Amino acid sequence: MTGVVLRAGAATDVGRLRTINQDSFVLLGDRDLFIVADGMGGHQGGEVASRLAVETLEVAYQDATADALTEAITVANHRIRNEGDADPDLRGMGTTVVALALMPEEPDPDEPVDDDAELPQHLLIANVGDSRGYLFRDGSLTQLTEDHSVVADLVREGKITAEEAEVHPQRNIVTRVLGVYETVEVDLWPVDPVAHDRYLLCSDGLFNEVGADQISSALRRLEDPNEAAAELVRLANEGGGRDNITVVIVDVLDDGGVAEAASAALAGGASGLDSGPAPAASADDDPAGFTTAMPAVDPGEGLSDDQLDSVLTGRPSRKERRADKRAQRSRRTRLTWRALLFTLLVLGVIGGAFATIQWYGTSTYFVGFDDDKVVIYQGRPDGILWIDPKLVKRTSIDRADVPERYVPAIVAGNEQPSLAKAQQLVGNIERDIAEDGSGTGSSTTTTRPGGSTTSSTAGSTTTQAN
Ligand code: CA
Repeated sequence: MTGVVLRAGAATDVGRLRTINQDSFVLLGDRDLFIVADGMGGHQGGEVASRLAVETLEVAYQDATADALTEAITVANHRIRNEGDADPDLRGMGTTVVALALMPEEPDPDEPVDDDAELPQHLLIANVGDSRGYLFRDGSLTQLTEDHSVVADLVREGKITAEEAEVHPQRNIVTRVLGVYETVEVDLWPVDPVAHDRYLLCSDGLFNEVGADQISSALRRLEDPNEAAAELVRLANEGGGRDNITVVIVDVLDDGGVAEAASAALAGGASGLDSGPAPAASADDDPAGFTTAMPAVDPGEGLSDDQLDSVLTGRPSRKERRADKRAQRSRRTRLTWRALLFTLLVLGVIGGAFATIQWYGTSTYFVGFDDDKVVIYQGRPDGILWIDPKLVKRTSIDRADVPERYVPAIVAGNEQPSLAKAQQLVGNIERDIAEDGSGTGSSTTTTRPGGSTTSSTAGSTTTQAN
């Protein structure tokens, strides 16, 4: 089997309304790695975050495996986060990432391992955020990735339609992002390479301006990937160009016989890569050691008549019957005690958990938006169980005056360990407004803490509003 051969082209543009291109991309043809990242936050934070994502992946992705790709994205997450924490100008920066890599398929754990056999190659798309990976096959365009955004969640939950999502005021709020949270969950989409397939990686500046039909038509018309990418960027600018636009096109020139092998094996059914961790083995189902051993009957020196009778008739002897009764009584007593102890223990655990959750749910403060004002809440941005965040202080700062670099963090719910710290942040915002003399308006709407539509994800941050 020969190897899979890919060819790639790309184009990027600042768009018609922005002054800075915060998108980054890279084509590493020799390593079969292609990346698009769409940065967000702050003055220069967005461009720094997307550049860091691309650069870190380039360096950290060493083995052509799914684990290595996920790990490299995790490393990028830490790096962006650390650099953001270290530099006030970059604080709160984040980026999406969508990457396509060619790698040997993971060996099937159920198949015997043949060290000499060359594993077939497949393509893997990794995604965090709302940039997208598409497959253009046989003239039709399919979105492979799922957007990690508030509106995509709402569409999946059936609360709004895809058409409503396109014009939804919260369409810029992403729910997963690199550089903002301690951990990052990466979606992986394995695909078999088929000759003549085209893959499209792009930032939202493309698909928010250009419809799927137009994208398909350009991909059909222009064979050269650079020309097709440039045409898609042109169409996005023609459609408004309200955001940065980045397009990477990867063509499968030769599938190395993978498609043939795959169609031969099609009867076996496709298997996804998502073999998550096996469920933990179930623990002993005997929570408090309730099983009580039968007390041993006194070993007799010799058999009495009664015991002999018992052996002969198969009925318990009087002595055994007495011992049984004693054992039953003692077992009942022990059971009562154990039950009481167990109940107390359970109540203790529940009480402790209740106190812990109450503490966890109210121990922090965060700065958020309430209608058009900046406010301070007590609690967690998404609330926790029965504890909704409580509005404790309303400031006079208008949302529209808040410098853009603060907006993602405030929308995400910027947690502070104390009320004093939260007030200090508000003070910083006030000071910066006074210094800047001009805030930037933002049309992004906040995710209302405690609101019934708040998504269940760990948090959300926002891209810049259009
Ligand atoms: Ca964007």
